[in-house]
Amino acid sequence: MQQPLAWLDDVRPSPYADQLALGFRSLRFNRPLEREYRAYMLEDSYDLRRMALCVGILIWLAFSVFDVLLVKGPEVWWMLAVRVAVLAILVGYAGILLRRRYLAWLPQLSMASILTFGVGSSLVIGFGHTGDPFYPYEGLLLVCMAAYFLVGLRLIQALGCSLVVLLVYVGVEWVAGIPGSRLTNNIFFLLFGNLIGAVGCYLLELKSREHFLISQLMRVLADHDSLTGLHNRRSFNRQFELLWRQAQREGRSLALLLCDIDHFKAYNDHYGHQAGDKVLARVGGLLAESARRPLDMAVRLGGEEFAVLLYDIDTHEARHRAESLRAALQTLAIEHRGSDTADALTMSIGVACLQPSESGALAQLYEHADRALYEAKAFGRNQVVV
Ligand code: GH3
Ligand code: MG
Ligand code: MG
Repeated sequence: MQQPLAWLDDVRPSPYADQLALGFRSLRFNRPLEREYRAYMLEDSYDLRRMALCVGILIWLAFSVFDVLLVKGPEVWWMLAVRVAVLAILVGYAGILLRRRYLAWLPQLSMASILTFGVGSSLVIGFGHTGDPFYPYEGLLLVCMAAYFLVGLRLIQALGCSLVVLLVYVGVEWVAGIPGSRLTNNIFFLLFGNLIGAVGCYLLELKSREHFLISQLMRVLADHDSLTGLHNRRSFNRQFELLWRQAQREGRSLALLLCDIDHFKAYNDHYGHQAGDKVLARVGGLLAESARRPLDMAVRLGGEEFAVLLYDIDTHEARHRAESLRAALQTLAIEHRGSDTADALTMSIGVACLQPSESGALAQLYEHADRALYEAKAFGRNQVVV
């Protein structure tokens, strides 16, 4: 996302599009988006991390068997003691990781797992080198690679873990007393291996962040109307069901305001389709203003038909909100010479209010509001009917 992307201008303002245009080479978004990305990654990488830990435990067991078969000296008992201790800790982590309610601990647990593998491996290698200076140390690189690619850590976390593991390894080898030239060779091998891992991890995180921004942007675009920025009918249908159930659980009422611009066909015919679009965007702005509470929702149902869904509101207040909305459009005084109703653009609003705990279906709220709108039109438009 280093190149400015022209298409992003078409979908602004959007925090995702803005961040995409701004870039994120330092692997950091602005603060609210960064929080959202981390929460998203937590969910997204949960299965991956669980699987990675299980694979890690299996590989650890396999290496333990190799030790029993191949190491002949007395140091094998120390090595096995370390292997068993590490295994016990990892099985403990797995027990926690398998339960979803500890999801928030996932990054810490992943880092703890890598450190446990890394410190354990360093100790096993150190003990191995007391008997056989050619005992393989390269397995340590597998631990670092797991940190970079397997357990869903961010680059900074993976780098930190790998660095600690390398330092512990050098300390252990120092105590084990392997020749300086061999230690230098091993350190360079591990450092270059880590360099490759870190570059790969950087590119992977860059792509993961880009994917996050684009997928969130697509989700917003799929749920919103491009002309007014309001929710579209698909998003409304989904949200309507959810809110209905929530209202039932909490014993709150829901109000639906169905709004339809009066004589809009005549407006288009008189002022042109483009002017009509501008008006629709302005009306959309008014509706967005009227649905500012967190569970409220302003929708463009299609054409010049809009809806406002209001949560936890009684009939009296819903009528008041609808009346304010109708008056707000009239106050804009958008000239409409083609209208029989008034000189300015107006709208009719049908309001229905229902307590979901009362017997009655979701569709009923819509039907009642639709009938009220029909009556508002029939009574002469530019009015609210409840
Ligand atoms: P009423 O007062 O009975 O609601 O009459 P009306 O003319 O508003 O209703 P009608 O349903 O006959 O016409 C709706 C018009 O809305 C028809 C169409 O030209 C216009 N329209 C629908 N979608 C758009 C749009 O996206 N942009 C523009 N500019 N006009 C649209
Ligand atoms: Mg109309
Ligand atoms: Mg209509």
